[in-house]
Amino acid sequence: MLNMDRLIDNSQAKELRRLIERSERIVLTCHVRPDGDAIGSTLGLWHLLKALGKQPVVVVPDKAPSNLSFLPGFKDIAVYTCHPQFCEKSFEEADLVICCDFNTPSRQDNLAPVMLASKGTHVLIDHHQEPDNFTELTISYPDMSSTCELVFRVIAAMGWYGEVNLDCATCLLTGIITDTRNFSVNCKNPDLYDILMRLLEKGVDKERIVKEALTTRSLSSLKLEAFAISERLEVFPRHKAAVITLSKEDLHRFDYEKGDTEGLVNRPLEVKGMVYSIFMREDPDCIKVSARSCQGFPVSEICKNLYGGGGHLQAAGGEFHGSLEECRKLLLDNMDHYDKYLRQTR
Ligand code: 5GP
Ligand code: MN
Repeated sequence: MLNMDRLIDNSQAKELRRLIERSERIVLTCHVRPDGDAIGSTLGLWHLLKALGKQPVVVVPDKAPSNLSFLPGFKDIAVYTCHPQFCEKSFEEADLVICCDFNTPSRQDNLAPVMLASKGTHVLIDHHQEPDNFTELTISYPDMSSTCELVFRVIAAMGWYGEVNLDCATCLLTGIITDTRNFSVNCKNPDLYDILMRLLEKGVDKERIVKEALTTRSLSSLKLEAFAISERLEVFPRHKAAVITLSKEDLHRFDYEKGDTEGLVNRPLEVKGMVYSIFMREDPDCIKVSARSCQGFPVSEICKNLYGGGGHLQAAGGEFHGSLEECRKLLLDNMDHYDKYLRQTR
C-alpha cells in the first residue's frame, strides 16, 4: 500500500521491530540544545510506542526551547539538568535506548556517559554524516531532510503506519518543518511531499505547527534579532561571508532565553550574493557557533576544522572554548583558506 519505506533497509527495520517487540522500558534520547527535529523524532516515537503498549520515556540532556511546548507530550519529557536521578534511573532500567538526531555521544554533553552505560540495546536513528559506532543497530541516512522524515519511513517499514496517531504525526511533521524551514531547504526529494500528504491525512494541523514552531516569538527576541543585524553583523564581500557575534551582555540586554536566536543565522543569506553566514553566541559554558550556507558551500568543514563540530554541508555548528573575540578572530584568520570552495560553488 505504502511505498514510504522503499528507501529503508528492510532488514534494519525488521531488527528494530524485533527489538521493540521484546522490550518494555524504552528510552528515547537526543542531542543537547534540542531542536524541533530532536524533540519531534523522540516524542513522535514516544507516541508510537505508547500506542503499542510500551513504557517509553523521552530523556533529553537539557531543556527544549519553549516554542516546542505546544507538542503533545512535551510536559512529560525528562530533562537531565533538571531531574538527573530520574534520568539516570530511566537509562539504568531500559531494555532499549533509541538515540535520535545525533551521530556521536559527545553531542549529548554530560548525558553521554549515562546513555552509554545503559545495559539496554542501543539503536541510532539519524541523518548526520559519518555516525560514530556506538550503537548495536545504526540506522543512518544522511540524505534525509530530517530525523523525523527517517523515523516516519522506519515506522512505515516496520509495518506500523496504522499505529501513527495524530500526536505522533504532529511531532514528526514538526521536525520536518523545522529542519527544512517549512520546505524551503533540503526538500528536493519528491517523496517528502508524499510523507507530508500522509501526515496531513492523519489530521495534522500544519499551519499551527509553522506558527508555533517557526514564526511565534517574544518581542524581546524580535528586538534582539533586529539589534544583531543592525549592530553586530559584519559582511566580508570578498569571502561572500557574513558573521554575527552576540556577547553575553548583548543577550542580557534583550532578556535572552533559549531559542531566541533561532533562525538568526539564516538572515544574512537573504542578501543576494551571500554564500555563508556564521553566528557566534556567548553562552555560559562556551561560544556556540552556528553556520548556514547555500550553493553547496561546506560550512560543516569550517565547523569541524575550527570549532570541533560538524553537521550538514549547508547547516552546521560547533563550540569554541575561549573568548568571543578569539572565536571571531579564528574564523577571520582562516577565511582565505575556505575561498577555494567559493570558486567551486555552483
Ligand atoms: P544549529 O546551528 O541549528 O545549532 O545546528 C545546525 C546543524 O549543525 C545541526 O544539524 C546540528 O546537528 C549541527 N550542530 C550544531 N552544533 C553542533 C556541534 O556542536 N557539534 C556537531 N558535531 N554538530 C553540531
Ligand atoms: Mn535534524
